[in-house]
Amino acid sequence: MPCYFCQRNAKSIDFKNTQLLRKFIASSGKIRAKKRTGVCSSHQRKVAQAIKRARYLALLSPSSK
Ligand SMILES: [Zn+2]
Repeated sequence: MPCYFCQRNAKSIDFKNTQLLRKFIASSGKIRAKKRTGVCSSHQRKVAQAIKRARYLALLSPSSK
């Protein structure tokens, strides 16, 4: 089964889309493992990158509340 992003033919993940990124962050504030999220490894890497960028720009808090 294609992953969430493959289904949407997403080549890049918008780091400003924090609503989406939050789905990939566990309640502990960690990025969820791809086993849990069901995204493919290439998109998992892009999600992680987008989350890190969003945190850097303070769009996402380093740990969720
Ligand atoms: Zn994918």
